[in-house]
Amino acid sequence: MSAPNRRTLLKGLALAGGTAALEAAPAAAIERRSAPPAALGMLYDTTRCIGCKACVFACQQANDLEPERDAAGLHLAPADLSGRTKNVIKLVETDEGRRSFVKAQCMHCVDPACAAACMLAALQKDPTTGIVSWDAALCVGCRYCMMACPFNVPKFEFDQALPKVVKCELCRHRVGNATLDRVEGGLSQYPKGHGPACCEVCPREAVVYGRRDELLAEAHRRIAEAPAGTYFEDRVYGESEAGGTQVLYLSHLPFAEIGLPDYPDRPTRADAYGVQEAIYKGFIAPVALYGVLAAVMLRNRRRGAGEEERS
Ligand code: SF4
Ligand code: SF4
Ligand code: SF4
Repeated sequence: MSAPNRRTLLKGLALAGGTAALEAAPAAAIERRSAPPAALGMLYDTTRCIGCKACVFACQQANDLEPERDAAGLHLAPADLSGRTKNVIKLVETDEGRRSFVKAQCMHCVDPACAAACMLAALQKDPTTGIVSWDAALCVGCRYCMMACPFNVPKFEFDQALPKVVKCELCRHRVGNATLDRVEGGLSQYPKGHGPACCEVCPREAVVYGRRDELLAEAHRRIAEAPAGTYFEDRVYGESEAGGTQVLYLSHLPFAEIGLPDYPDRPTRADAYGVQEAIYKGFIAPVALYGVLAAVMLRNRRRGAGEEERS
């Protein structure tokens, strides 16, 4: 995370004013939003995943995240999301002894709580792709996004001098000038090397990407073609849960047992109200608080630059 300069600070505070007005709305007034028509996403299918974790290492490589190593210097597979991993494969086992691998990363919520909780708009949802991105130039490191996320996704580089918020951004940095083309199988794809790294390396198509509407069609096709009872309740997680997500799941086990809470069809943005009420109760107004935080960081940055020039 870098300290904001004057331009980004003013931009952030201007956005903050708008966001604060939005957050002043009562929870009952929250309307359900739809994903953008061309929203991108991923579909993960537990019945296809073999737990090879190729997607985990591809994600770390694509995002320049240094993997953890053992004493011999060999890569260690991460146990959970952290400041060093945006994507993890876990092995879960139910009380009855049924097992499943499960992938975890940002869900790219249709109406994200993290973005609603961030008063400086450092987290934003792209109006075209629906990708929820993080802007280092606007972030002041308050970590309210971490408290607001209903899927416990954003992590923080606590061990870094200039820490970043770490979460999947659907590999948007790999796209460049590439364009999406519809390919066989009905999923829009970028040329190889420009799409989400985890999807490109998966040997089983356990995780695939494309437009959200295409992924929903693919998920329902798999349900229709599979023997009865293959998929839990013949449902696609994320179609409506938490107001809808752009990362969708098919599972042979109950969703709650693989770590996907049984959220109702209600925007996760609504949950940000509770976070903000708890944080701001008895404190100064949110915009003023953010202004103070950003101004202190700007001052410290200038002091640091001055000391560097003198040395
Ligand atoms: S609320 Fe959490 S899961 Fe949803 S977009 Fe934000 S970080 Fe991702
Ligand atoms: S889309 Fe990219 S950042 Fe997100 S989990 Fe896959 S490889 Fe990691
Ligand atoms: S690469 Fe594919 S099969 Fe291997 S762990 Fe990841 S999602 Fe599962």
